[in-house]
Amino acid sequence: MKNNFLFSITALVSLYMVLLMSCEKVKVEKMSINDSYWAKTETISVNPSLDTDLKVDIAIIGGGYTGLSSAYHLAKKNPEMKIVVFEAKTTGAGASGRHGGMVLPSLLDEYTDEETLKWTYDLSVNNMKFIDSLSKALNINCDLVLNGYCETIFREEDVSEYEDYVKEANAADIPLEFWDKARTKQELGTDLYYGAMYDPNGGSVHAMKLIKLMKTAAENQGVIIYENSPVVSFEEGKIINLTVESNETEYLIEANSIVVATNAYTSKLGIFKNQIMPVHTQTAVTEVLTAEQLEAIKWESRMPFYDSRIMLFHLVLTPDNRIVIGGGNVDTYWNNGLEYKGNLSRVADMMLQELIIMFPELKGIKFEHIWNGILGTTYDEVETIGVMGENKNIFYGLAYNGHGVNQSIMFGDVIAHLHAGEYHGWEDSELYGYELSKIPVEPFKYVGTNIFFKYWKWKDRH
Ligand SMILES: Cc1cc2nc3c(=O)[nH]c(=O)nc-3n(C[C@H](O)[C@H](O)[C@H](O)COP(=O)(O)OP(=O)(O)OC[C@H]3O[C@@H](n4cnc5c(N)ncnc54)[C@H](O)[C@@H]3O)c2cc1C
Repeated sequence: MKNNFLFSITALVSLYMVLLMSCEKVKVEKMSINDSYWAKTETISVNPSLDTDLKVDIAIIGGGYTGLSSAYHLAKKNPEMKIVVFEAKTTGAGASGRHGGMVLPSLLDEYTDEETLKWTYDLSVNNMKFIDSLSKALNINCDLVLNGYCETIFREEDVSEYEDYVKEANAADIPLEFWDKARTKQELGTDLYYGAMYDPNGGSVHAMKLIKLMKTAAENQGVIIYENSPVVSFEEGKIINLTVESNETEYLIEANSIVVATNAYTSKLGIFKNQIMPVHTQTAVTEVLTAEQLEAIKWESRMPFYDSRIMLFHLVLTPDNRIVIGGGNVDTYWNNGLEYKGNLSRVADMMLQELIIMFPELKGIKFEHIWNGILGTTYDEVETIGVMGENKNIFYGLAYNGHGVNQSIMFGDVIAHLHAGEYHGWEDSELYGYELSKIPVEPFKYVGTNIFFKYWKWKDRH
């Protein structure tokens, strides 16, 4: 009797594990359309979906910044190759079209020595200049403002740690500055913080205008982008077979190489299943500030900033004087769920309260819109890039943990170099081919992350 019971439990657990580990077909209906403020204020025409089987040199899965930038750089290096992008919804449907608008350089201090820190920082700064010059060359304005950014210090006891970090960065020739409370207030207007780490490199951008830039750049190089054309599965091999579903029909694609540019959605393709976790987080935008409100808040530098809380808040002042604010809340769902099940109006109330704490002069201001987006996160809080598969023909750039606007576009260039067997420089970073730590399987992941999130929220308030 006891043995029978144990046998049944073991069989059920094994079946459950097999079901969890099996490669399910990507379920597009779980992926929401992009209803961000950025999508509402920049309309990009939608390309036709796939309607035929294809043989291609390179198939790119995902039409966010990683996918579009990889497409652009790969096509530029290989004009003779047939390169296609498959996007499940529309370009920018993922984090690239929904983010908080901050453009950030790489500061990989924990993972690297002084020399490499400077080298990777400079590569990422050069990438911002690349975006700027591409925008000018194609005459597509993406509201890119490179006026620097700040990381503001929420707790007094953390001030000395930031001062030390700035000294370390300066020793590596990275031009950070430590600002005390008074200087922080002078530049950002808010009195909430005990100081800030200022970086002259960084800034802000309109998410969907940047998508338009990268999409146009890729198409100008001859790349074909299919929208509403999800890759529902792929099989590894010297020739990789992909199945793309559009208009309820399955098409077969044969590709010599693929680029996986699906960030938070990657686990649904059956890879990085317990390494990359989708985390839902929300962003809101205010109505346009009046001239009086703008003067009252004294955000003189107009510089974007994020703070040092675990569930940090990030803020951008747009060129038309709205505040884009995000953070303070995250949600994860069972088995890497992609469907948002939270309460946006409750999150909006929490964010508005926080905005008024930062800028009491804005009391009475309203949000015009709030939306959800999904971050690709990892246990080590770092991104990963490299090439995998027995035939070394599966390239990937993934999981930017909430700071990927600039990085993902740079990774497109790194992927093009890797594909060509050329040296880029990023290979010297500890994060090249970084073996991501494993995240526990369900139910431990769901239970564990939700306990941590609740604890972090509590800690951020105390
Ligand atoms: C709310 C929020 C705020 C953020 N704020 C900032 C910020 O201020 N600054 C910053 O630097 N970073 C920020 N980030 C992170 C940044 O947006 C991302 O790191 C970056 O956009 C990742 O780009 P990506 O192309 O790799 O992924 P994504 O933009 O997510 O693109 C992946 C694409 O793949 C598509 N896809 C998925 N599965 C399939 C499939 N099977 N077949 C075909 N297509 C598929 C998706 O529809 C999507 O379009 C934020 C993210 C979020 C969610």
